[in-house]
Amino acid sequence: MTTTTSRIPGLHKLSPAERLERVAKAAGLGADAVAHMRNTGNLDSATADSMIENVIGTMNVPLGVATNMLIDGRDVLVPMATEESSVVAAVCNAARQCRSTGGFTTAMSGAQMIAQVQLVGVSNPEFARLQILEHFADIKALCDETDPVLLKHGGGFHDIEVRILPGRTGPMVITHLIVDTRDAMGANAVNSMAEAVAPRIAEWTGGRTYLRILSNLADRRLARARATWSLDDIGGAEVRDGILAAFDFADIDPYRAATHNKGVMNGVSAVVLATGNDTRAVEAGAHAYAARSGQYRSLTQWEADADGNLTGTIEMPLAVGLIGGATRSHPTARIALDIMGAQTAERLACTIAAVGLAQNFAALKALATTGIQKGHMALHAKNIAVMVGAAGEEIDKVARELVAQGKVRVDVAEAILNDLRGQ
Ligand code: NAD
Repeated sequence: MTTTTSRIPGLHKLSPAERLERVAKAAGLGADAVAHMRNTGNLDSATADSMIENVIGTMNVPLGVATNMLIDGRDVLVPMATEESSVVAAVCNAARQCRSTGGFTTAMSGAQMIAQVQLVGVSNPEFARLQILEHFADIKALCDETDPVLLKHGGGFHDIEVRILPGRTGPMVITHLIVDTRDAMGANAVNSMAEAVAPRIAEWTGGRTYLRILSNLADRRLARARATWSLDDIGGAEVRDGILAAFDFADIDPYRAATHNKGVMNGVSAVVLATGNDTRAVEAGAHAYAARSGQYRSLTQWEADADGNLTGTIEMPLAVGLIGGATRSHPTARIALDIMGAQTAERLACTIAAVGLAQNFAALKALATTGIQKGHMALHAKNIAVMVGAAGEEIDKVARELVAQGKVRVDVAEAILNDLRGQ
């Protein structure tokens, strides 16, 4: 039975268990489904309830660990949370193949976030722009007063820039507050500053301020990673040339670039999620950065060095933190950070960039050689086996037979399972 109404007044006032009961009734869930939902795994119901609204349960995603990652001369185990098969294995393989050349070298452009304040209703925007710039010291003082903790940690207000945009209803004067948010992702930190500064901007210019919020295009917080894959390690010049051609394709065609960068984000988002960071913030920043030239392009660059080895680089905004949001409230996120040994947000961002590059290498290599499906199939076959009802040892048996037959399909899996069960 499906729900007849989505109006459940007062749902937010109930406990997670009471909400689950109400939703189960409305949606006609059976006792098994309710019992399943009651098991919240290693995120207890009270913690989950403190994180978002209207909680009725939790959604568990597998947490894997990428091995072989050598980053700036240090071996790092990288926790990755993802529902997609092959993603973790791809990073392990890519990382193994660049160990002989020293692994990944990383760097960060800075830890600055941008908050935007939108001013409208001024007929002389150039004049208003200078009025705002003249108040540099006042703006700095307001920002630093808003978050003295950031200041204590060596961050805080850094600069302002003021842009004039031709809005449809008249010019807009957009003030950027540029703030070093240290080990915090910084959204709340800079949003509070924008809200503190906005009324003053309106007062100084005689205009009206509307939006006061960070930009996820965190292009002053770029993480960079590079690595070299020797021809011996990757299987020769033909593989290299295939990867270079694949990159070339992505860099000139947005249809391909979208999938190319999706592969990068398979790795990036998995580490972002595992550490309790905001996947949407990082994804929005990555894609906006990929389109900064006016055309959506690759987040990575691939070349051959003077000896013919394959070199890869990645550069992308990575606004992640160790403080704030779910990074501290989610117990698994804290443990993930411990496994990685990331002591600073910068180290975390650099590690994530290296994972993104590794992921891209693995995808391009597979695409340029055997094709993506071969590697995917073994794990995909397991999913198909589970889908048709295989349990315990049956899962592996059905999956192996699917791969052996080269037909990873539900109908074939059903037939194999029936055979196995002697039906
Ligand atoms: P936060 O406000 O919870 O914590 C950050 C604060 O911690 C800083 O302002 C500072 O006062 C303090 N702090 C203590 N030690 C610090 C250190 N070593 N370095 C830096 N700060 C330190 O978190 P936040 O990072 O400002 O905000 C992140 C959250 O905001 C995420 O949950 C995100 O999902 C959410 N958010 C995102 C957006 C967006 O991306 N568009 C918008 C709104 C909110």
